[in-house]
Amino acid sequence: MNNIQFYKVLITEVIEEAPSVKRFILKFEQEVAFKPGQFVILKFEGLQHQFDTRSYSIAGQINSNCLEICVVFKEDGAATPLLFEHKIGDTLLSSLPEGRFVLQEEPIQKNLFFICTGTGVAPFRCMIKELLLNRKHALPIHLFFGCRKMEDLLYRSEFEELAMEYPNFSYHPVLSREQWDGNTGYVHPHYLKMLETTKDALFYLCGWTEMLKETRDNIKNLGYTRQDIKVEFYD
Ligand SMILES: Cc1cc2nc3c(=O)[nH]c(=O)nc-3n(C[C@H](O)[C@H](O)[C@H](O)COP(=O)(O)OP(=O)(O)OC[C@H]3O[C@@H](n4cnc5c(N)ncnc54)[C@H](O)[C@@H]3O)c2cc1C
Repeated sequence: MNNIQFYKVLITEVIEEAPSVKRFILKFEQEVAFKPGQFVILKFEGLQHQFDTRSYSIAGQINSNCLEICVVFKEDGAATPLLFEHKIGDTLLSSLPEGRFVLQEEPIQKNLFFICTGTGVAPFRCMIKELLLNRKHALPIHLFFGCRKMEDLLYRSEFEELAMEYPNFSYHPVLSREQWDGNTGYVHPHYLKMLETTKDALFYLCGWTEMLKETRDNIKNLGYTRQDIKVEFYD
């Protein structure tokens, strides 16, 4: 992390997206180029922890200078309690966009499965919009999003609107701790059911390790290989 350059960014907006999740809009002094799926690294000077940096997926680009991140509060965490104290007008130190968890440049001729829990949905918001709005990807795109409760379904209305507008995009929210008329339980049986009738898929997984490892094992058991499964671990 020593050779990373950090830039002062201004917090221009803070949105309470869910009970313990905030969206922060960060304004850079210069234009920033990014690829959907990338993240920024924030530096917390003086952090009481082995490392003073934390990575956050880019959840959106507001304009050429402003990026959005979407962060879940971790009560016993070192950095998020500090970050959550920040208000509009405060500054942070951020890297430029980094990372290789991005869409391949060439057209993707496969069914796409995006599988995540919690803030793991952040990079998928950018990737799915890029596919639908810019690349006009016409093959099926599935987003399986596991959460505890309805209130945790980040960007819900946006994904629902995309699903209405683009018939090839299917939004599959799954709740583990609340009954509703949608999918319930863990996310695994739901994407596995879809895969019973799907051939030739490419997978993007993002979030916390435990859930991702199980997902990756399930997919590999169906005969898919490492090349078919792109993963971004949050820890
Ligand atoms: C590439 C990348 C992208 C990331 N993008 C995001 C993002 O978009 N949004 C976001 O909220 N976080 C994201 N993270 C996680 C983020 O970098 C921090 O780890 C997180 O904010 C916790 O920081 P902390 O200092 O508060 O907790 P720490 O003091 O670092 O937490 C202690 C331990 O708890 C684990 N942990 C922290 N939060 C959780 C959780 N919710 N569930 C399970 N284990 C957890 C950590 O991995 C660590 O082992 C990303 C991580 C990586 C590597």
